[in-house]
Amino acid sequence: MTANIFNFTISATDGAARRGTVSTAHGDIRTPAFMPVGTAATVKGMTPEAVRETGADILLGNTYHLMLRPGAERVGRLGGLHKFMNWERPILTDSGGFQVMSLNELRKIDENGVTFKSHIDGQRFELTPERSMEIQNHLDATITMAFDECTPYPADHETAATSMRRSMRWAKRSSEAFEARQGYGLFGIVQGSTYEDLRLESVNALTDIGFDGYAIGGLAVGEGQEAMFSTLEVTTPAMLADKPRYLMGVGKPDDLVGAVMRGVDMFDCVLPTRSGRNAQAFTRFGTVNMRNARHADDDRPLDELCECPACRNYSRAYLHHLFKAKEILGATLLTWHNLQYYQDIMRGMRAAIEEGSLASYALDFFAAQENGDIPPL
Ligand SMILES: [Zn+2]
Repeated sequence: MTANIFNFTISATDGAARRGTVSTAHGDIRTPAFMPVGTAATVKGMTPEAVRETGADILLGNTYHLMLRPGAERVGRLGGLHKFMNWERPILTDSGGFQVMSLNELRKIDENGVTFKSHIDGQRFELTPERSMEIQNHLDATITMAFDECTPYPADHETAATSMRRSMRWAKRSSEAFEARQGYGLFGIVQGSTYEDLRLESVNALTDIGFDGYAIGGLAVGEGQEAMFSTLEVTTPAMLADKPRYLMGVGKPDDLVGAVMRGVDMFDCVLPTRSGRNAQAFTRFGTVNMRNARHADDDRPLDELCECPACRNYSRAYLHHLFKAKEILGATLLTWHNLQYYQDIMRGMRAAIEEGSLASYALDFFAAQENGDIPPL
């Protein structure tokens, strides 16, 4: 097998869950995989070396933020995003669509693409499928995402259909504009809100175009976990079995476990990093708020089984103190812990799929989450 070819191999399955490897020009991605979000060419508060120590194989970068600052052409001249941010492993960039669409008052959408004003200086930009491919090429993204419209939620059937069909035309233009290179991949994005017929129509349209992987977009936008899972249950069985499936912007720890059991291979989400900066820890016992006064005299670790520096070397009392004193080390340590915990979940699921024991892994996982945090001293 040539190492430099972009491909996906599945080594084990357990129910709908898959244990696989995506091989790329920048190394392998073990799936199921969680991608920490490095919005502006940095995972906030963390060095890339620290992110790697948690076990991440791939990061996500945001096209919208990087095109505005420092600029895609500049990153390209400086050798691409891997070199620029000192992360030599795989990087996936989003298409910019999702963030541009969320600039409600600053944007205009038509068939060609989206025009918008920068949130930084008001300068006018246009983002089209072709420009999005060009930007992601300058950034040297290992995995490029097709340009799409994330359909707002809720949307009636007609609105969702119109939006999805335009995204499918943009997916075709993205595919035509993408510069194929050895070991690099382009993913299409399934849309269609929570409508089964539209999701299936979208899967078929993308499969006809042909992509290296398929993402599921437009979820985790307020529909709730039950609707998200039922949408996955109709969508993933229709997707090509031999290509990676990526659920965009998800999620909480229990979302990850539920989605892997429904056939998803890849995830990204700002929750572990954003929550870490806000004193919220994700743990085996559910979420823990380190600002809570009950930690002030607690010299136990946040989680005695966790191998991250926050848990190995510091007490709950110290972490609590850092947040009360607004010290930046608190954000770094809790981000580190959260990323470690997310990667621990992925490691645990990968091992369970290999053993055919994902169902019992999930039972234990949900039971521990239900039990809640260890009681105060
Ligand atoms: Zn920890």
